[in-house]
Amino acid sequence: MRITFYGGAQEVGRMCMLLEDANSTRNVMFDCGIKLGEKTEYPLIHDDELRRVRNITISHAHMDHTGYLPHVYAKGAKPKIFMTKPTRDLVGVLLADYYRIHHGEREQRKLFSMKDVDGVMKDSQMKEFNEEFISDFKMRFLPSGHILGSAVTLIEEKGGIAFSGDICMRKTRLLDPCYKDLHANTLMVESTYGGKEDSIPSYKESYQKLIKIINETLDQGGHVIIPSFAVGRAQEILLALDDYMKSGLLRPSRIFIEGMIGKAMKIHRHNAYYANDELKKRILMSEDDPFNSKNFYHSRSKTREDVMKEPSIIVTTSGMLSGGPVLFYLQRLGNDPKNTIVFVGYQAEGTLGRKVASGEKKIMINEQEIELKMRVEQVRISGHADFNELLQFINSVKGLKKVFLVHGEKTDLKDAIEKKYEVIVPRLLETYSI
Ligand SMILES: [Zn+2]
Ligand SMILES: [Zn+2]
Repeated sequence: MRITFYGGAQEVGRMCMLLEDANSTRNVMFDCGIKLGEKTEYPLIHDDELRRVRNITISHAHMDHTGYLPHVYAKGAKPKIFMTKPTRDLVGVLLADYYRIHHGEREQRKLFSMKDVDGVMKDSQMKEFNEEFISDFKMRFLPSGHILGSAVTLIEEKGGIAFSGDICMRKTRLLDPCYKDLHANTLMVESTYGGKEDSIPSYKESYQKLIKIINETLDQGGHVIIPSFAVGRAQEILLALDDYMKSGLLRPSRIFIEGMIGKAMKIHRHNAYYANDELKKRILMSEDDPFNSKNFYHSRSKTREDVMKEPSIIVTTSGMLSGGPVLFYLQRLGNDPKNTIVFVGYQAEGTLGRKVASGEKKIMINEQEIELKMRVEQVRISGHADFNELLQFINSVKGLKKVFLVHGEKTDLKDAIEKKYEVIVPRLLETYSI
């Protein structure tokens, strides 16, 4: 068999790989994402090649793993698509949002239609965690702990070929950690935090720092902006902020939710079955609804002026400042030193988020120059495994021989494991035999 890397090779974004057998009769694509930045980048797969794809498995709903799906349909390919139920629910709202943004952009050739989004949704087949399914290959999804519905994909051939998707090794407020009993000969593993210096403090430590920053900002009459992906970090942080506010450690203030975050909250509520036991019990067996707390306020473009009236916390998309309501708030609140922006997630190379987080003070938003005077902070409350946790995950896989490091910009991890395994850091468009 062989595997080709069409995206997600030495980069974070547009995850896309194709596994095929030697005579090309059977194939499966792992993820089908785009890379959102100052300009959108797509997997480097030729359209003719794309139309030969028979199966696609989706590890989780984030756009860097799913955003290319409607393009695939627009190009006339009709592969079978497999994902878990919560992933499908989340993909539905995220792709509809992608359609809205894509079609709102001026002077851009429209690359897909709503019919293509509908096609993806109608043809996607839902699989439970640990359910065996066969389509060219015998496959199964195992929980990866990253976001609701996120999965490790296992192909049960050649001693096991596994794709980690994005993984989290810690128990979070929402989910249990990544599955720990994987058997595989070959592993394609994410390496977002693949740098030796990438150590993420405990959630407790990070939350204490976050709460301190928020309290200091609110005390001096400022607003706190927390840019976030719509799905995953936003829900995790909102649940934490609500808990801290209820316990009195966080000053009472309005917590505004904007963008797709609100829609994703409802999907989390409806998929409580896929959350960890504590959250499941809270939702299914009591009156408590942590996703609909009285501390949360929903804001839309019409009501944003109201948000500005008194010190508040604003949790909004997008996580790397590549679009979304966060740009409006940055434009309005960025030049006042009383306000704070707190980055909680990974900021990929080439994004405005990376620039602001690394200290740039003059930025352009909608062709307008903004001088940033607000406080800029980083508190890592990540949904990804850090360097040591990645090592721990790789070393936990039984029967492992070959490791491909994907979904990362740094390769220190290679040095750390190459005595034990054959390690490959593939470049875009490279093919390897398995
Ligand atoms: Zn992700
Ligand atoms: Zn990802």
